[in-house]
Amino acid sequence: MTYKKKPSWLRMPERGSEEAAKVRSILRKYSLDTVCRQAMCPNLGHCFQRGTATFLILGNRCTRSCRYCAIEHSEGFLDKPDANEPERLAEAAAEMELRYVIITSVTRDDLEDGGAGHFANTVKAVREKISGARIEVLTPDFRGNSDALKVIADAGPDVFNHNLETVERLFPDVRPEASYGMSLEVLELYGKLAPSTPRKSGLMLGLGETEIEIRNALQDLRGKGVTMLTLGQYLQPSRKHWPVDRYVTPDEFDAWKDEALAMGFVSAASAPLVRSSFHSDIYSGLT
Ligand code: SF4
Repeated sequence: MTYKKKPSWLRMPERGSEEAAKVRSILRKYSLDTVCRQAMCPNLGHCFQRGTATFLILGNRCTRSCRYCAIEHSEGFLDKPDANEPERLAEAAAEMELRYVIITSVTRDDLEDGGAGHFANTVKAVREKISGARIEVLTPDFRGNSDALKVIADAGPDVFNHNLETVERLFPDVRPEASYGMSLEVLELYGKLAPSTPRKSGLMLGLGETEIEIRNALQDLRGKGVTMLTLGQYLQPSRKHWPVDRYVTPDEFDAWKDEALAMGFVSAASAPLVRSSFHSDIYSGLT
């Protein structure tokens, strides 16, 4: 399988600034991981330079194997959640002087609550450590477990994010262990549990979806009360991952942004290098 040649607009931002080095050393100091590194995010250098990062909790191996994801998949036994991780993360966020803290995780189908309790403990630890900080959680689907979602809602993050990632038709091939309907249900259910908390979701484009399928997915998200959206270009992590079908132009992303805002999304980050947490502090309008 050959890689499709990347167009000029996918130029990777800078990597080696002083600020980025500071972020890396703080992450090392507190033995913390980021989805930025594990998922090979093209914006790592840019975001680290801004002094921001998206923390990855519950380990860096996932019980699932989505075909587009660079995060390591685990067949076997996974470590129990590290009880000290919430504290360490709160310390690191304070040392990074973060006003907007983003917490995500791999999917832990091996845990009864899917890791929801650990998420909640992490939100609480950050709240206690950094007064006035805004917290966004980007969570798995917890297999639609409403008790797990309630545990997170009770911890009270400021933004609840759960990605659709792709359109309905591609789920069986690209996200075989997940379901389109379940992800929509999770977003709807969270809205019932925490009606005043903004909900966010995102898709990657360029996996083979059609224009109509993208539009349907956006309408489905709006239909569940989702108000914040991210759209970005899928980039193939390795030859064994799902191939890029096409590179969507910046103009198309702009057109989707306009269409999403016309559909009633309050914020729509839509551009080739946009990722779930890209400039979340700005797009959330909360800082
Ligand atoms: S569930 Fe998330 S972390 Fe796991 S393989 Fe899929 S996208 Fe990657």
